[in-house]
Amino acid sequence: MRFYSIVGTRPNFVKEFLIHMESSRRGFQEIIVHTRQHYDRDMSDVFFEDFALPAPHYLLTVENNDNVSFTAGAMQQLGRLLSEDRPDFVLAYGDVNTTLSAAVAASKLRIPFAHVEAGIRTADRYNPEEINRRVADTLAEVNYCCTETHVRNLKAEGHDASRIVLSGDLMKDALLYTLSRLELPVVRGDYMVLTLHRQENIMVRDRLAAIVEGLLRSDQRIVFPAHPRTRKQLEQFDLMPRLARSKIEIIPPLGYVDFIRLAAGANKVLTDSGGVRREAYLLKKPCIVLIELSWFPEISQVGWKVLTGPDPERIAFLINTFEPTGPYRELFGDGRAHVKILDDLEQRFGSSSNAR
Ligand code: UDP
Repeated sequence: MRFYSIVGTRPNFVKEFLIHMESSRRGFQEIIVHTRQHYDRDMSDVFFEDFALPAPHYLLTVENNDNVSFTAGAMQQLGRLLSEDRPDFVLAYGDVNTTLSAAVAASKLRIPFAHVEAGIRTADRYNPEEINRRVADTLAEVNYCCTETHVRNLKAEGHDASRIVLSGDLMKDALLYTLSRLELPVVRGDYMVLTLHRQENIMVRDRLAAIVEGLLRSDQRIVFPAHPRTRKQLEQFDLMPRLARSKIEIIPPLGYVDFIRLAAGANKVLTDSGGVRREAYLLKKPCIVLIELSWFPEISQVGWKVLTGPDPERIAFLINTFEPTGPYRELFGDGRAHVKILDDLEQRFGSSSNAR
């Protein structure tokens, strides 16, 4: 079996890593294409090192200046590669612009597209990630879902059941693997971890300032590995000086292992990330989600996550008081999503393989 894995962002590398290990073990040929949607060392190279991933077979050369031109440029370059090489199928992960480009380029060339982390839905159809996942799910020959909720979402939209597979979550696989390999202790320490990078939160000054105000009012020690885009916005909106005089420690983005070590030792997790809220749950940390958009509602339903908009008082209150309201349940599969996905892909596309 010969397939393309198309990756380009930090969460993509986390999701791809065990697919890579397992497909190498099975002797499948995985061609890794890196779109360079994330391109600096902290957001890209360090993950290849942490996961001992081989250098990508292909690196795209699209400048990431804005959502539309990046998506279009990546689509064009992927189209050229795929039409020359014609793999058995194309695999892409999550809901980033890279995923959208891969879905369209492959499908236009009649190469089956497989979507990992399908069926997530939020109320806002104009959320950038929502656009990407709706297109990817619709074009996919097969959709791999992390949870029953996502399976239900796809069925409710009329997607054919034969193209929906409940696989569990590759992020859980990566986390369990890493915790056990490195024997990382999970304890509730005396600091909070913060990540913040959603476009909705950082592009408008008043909203970002209100979130910062809430964090400051909580008066907690907060360690904040800042996404480069967020740091830039904090600087541009002149919010850095207040942060510098506070208990909030801004550090560069961390590699995966360092980030998981930090999160594993935190008291609570504050985030607007789709991945970090799952990791918080898996690490049994109360999680305050700093955006009203609900992804992975299961975590709220079991009482381990609470959402808030940019209301400084509510943010501070939740940081100081929120504790889980229900018992912990296993969510997101059994840590073997990578095995289930590759079993299913082999069954679907293995016999038509053009491995060479
Ligand atoms: N992450 C990391 N270093 C950091 C912050 C996050 O390695 O400084 C990891 C985190 O463990 C998770 C992934 O990045 O696996 C989530 O990516 P991100 O929050 O950028 O994207 P999202 O999940 O919101 O799409």
